[in-house]
Amino acid sequence: MKCIECGGAMKKIHGDYRYLESGLDDIVLGNITRYKCSKCGEEEVAIPSTDDLHKLIAFILILKPTPLMGKEVKYLRKMLGYTSEKFAEALGVTRVSISRWENSGLEMKPDRDKHIRLFFFSKKSDAMQKSPSVMLVIKTLVSNLPMKEDNREIRFQPEDWTAMAGA
Ligand SMILES: [Zn+2]
Repeated sequence: MKCIECGGAMKKIHGDYRYLESGLDDIVLGNITRYKCSKCGEEEVAIPSTDDLHKLIAFILILKPTPLMGKEVKYLRKMLGYTSEKFAEALGVTRVSISRWENSGLEMKPDRDKHIRLFFFSKKSDAMQKSPSVMLVIKTLVSNLPMKEDNREIRFQPEDWTAMAGA
């Protein structure tokens, strides 16, 4: 396999991958194959069934026992397909508040946190009910316990989200 940028040789790497493309800092995917150019550093990552992965990440964020972070709120908003204007209107806050939460790097206050999670549930309950993989969501959550506020890493294994296919 050759690098598409420079034609250099790509080295195969297998293992953990921090999924920064999600917009989140602490999502770690296990058992991921990626290729890195030894010359220019260009990377190619092969992540299967990303739609299912994104859905699983959302459900885990909603269920996790630690507070939601601003970036996680942004992730959930995008999963709902809401603009910040629409999200602000739905939650009865200003767009400035949404922007402040999403960019603050801080934890959400408990009441607001709960409100956002319940709102997500109310919009996505159909998807959650239809999903044959509630057990997988629970299993993924449990395998990440205990979740700690000083280590927010959440790990996902491909067999967890690829088993959701068609959900
Ligand atoms: Zn290269």
